[in-house]
Amino acid sequence: MKIQEADAKDLLLGQGLPVPGWTVARTPAEARTSAEHWLAEGASQVVIKAQVLVGGRGKAGGVKLAGSAEEAEQVAGRILGMDIKGIPVRKVLVAAAAEIVREYYLGAVLDRAGRRILLMGSAEGGVDIEQVAVDHPEAITSLHADPYLGLLDHQARHLAFAMGLGAHWKAGAAVAKGLVQTMLANDADLVEINPLAVVREAAPDGASTERLVCLDAKITLDESALARHPGLDALRDPDEEDPIDREAREAGISFIKLHGTIGCMVNGAGLAMTTMDLIKRAGGEPANFLDIGGGARADKVAAAMRLILTDPKVDAILVNIFGGITRGDEVARGLIEARAQQTRSVPMVVRIVGTNATEADGLLREARFETAASLDEAAAKAVAASAGSDGSAGMPA
Ligand code: GDP
Ligand code: MN
Repeated sequence: MKIQEADAKDLLLGQGLPVPGWTVARTPAEARTSAEHWLAEGASQVVIKAQVLVGGRGKAGGVKLAGSAEEAEQVAGRILGMDIKGIPVRKVLVAAAAEIVREYYLGAVLDRAGRRILLMGSAEGGVDIEQVAVDHPEAITSLHADPYLGLLDHQARHLAFAMGLGAHWKAGAAVAKGLVQTMLANDADLVEINPLAVVREAAPDGASTERLVCLDAKITLDESALARHPGLDALRDPDEEDPIDREAREAGISFIKLHGTIGCMVNGAGLAMTTMDLIKRAGGEPANFLDIGGGARADKVAAAMRLILTDPKVDAILVNIFGGITRGDEVARGLIEARAQQTRSVPMVVRIVGTNATEADGLLREARFETAASLDEAAAKAVAASAGSDGSAGMPA
């Protein structure tokens, strides 16, 4: 789950990282009030940043400076009217504009293959880090942090020096350790600061000082770990969640869209994987992974059917239920109800075994559903019914 910059900055502050203050505005008038606040605090300009869950806002014109409260109101009005990569901007962040001396990149991601946290730092910050990785891979320093020990002091120092932080190495090492702490404390998959910047600030004696601060923040949280962090679910931005993902989440269904033509409705993740494998073996392509979970009732089956049919490529559906806690007759009733509500007619093959399979079979026959006794038979029938598959691959002897 991606969270907005302002929320990500809150999580960084929670781990003691240096993040300059900000306010969030939803209207140009609010942005004006925010700007008045920062200008009164001594800022000579304010920065106004679109709050949308995509990168590259700067390049898209979603990050702008303003020198007065009036200008801030106008700039915010323009940004609030924008679409960035198809997403309408509904909020902006307003902060005292930093005087940037140099921009760095620092990011941490979960390295699944390495089973550790991967940290990446670079003096080539502010810009597209993916492009730096392609053009100058040597400009990026990476190292692994142990998930139990966190980032060790010597690793943090090594990274800070390798990034060329020079006099700011101590602050840089602290930020690197804090990044890993932020990841561990919130079960994040990714924490990225781009730019991590050395900024010039006025000192009380009229001279200026330099300080290392997090000017941008991007955090992705592990959906599956949200149950461990009751407060974090509130950071989900309903405006930006895919409506299909939302319906699946609210119904308690695991649904992942794929590229094929055969919709799958299965109970249990392992059985869903097997079903997809058998569809492929029979010469077809699954359109989705779908696990309705254990003990699914009729309404959940209907919700699963709606999700499958949102994909216009689906031209056949395979229902494979192994009744344990889930009762076959409940699923059959759900299928009958779902078909009655269906806006588009798609051939369906149903295989139900286990608890109450006989009752299910009776109900399905009465409602004239196509049924199959074995999974191989069900897969073959679904593939034959789908125009998207070539049908040439037969079942193995
Ligand atoms: P992104 O484009 O979505 O990654 O948004 P960022 O917050 O990283 O902003 C993009 C760029 O705008 C940064 O790399 C900076 O160069 C510039 N920028 C952001 N905040 C400030 C600021 O406070 N002062 C100045 N001068 N530039 C800023
Ligand atoms: Mn950025």
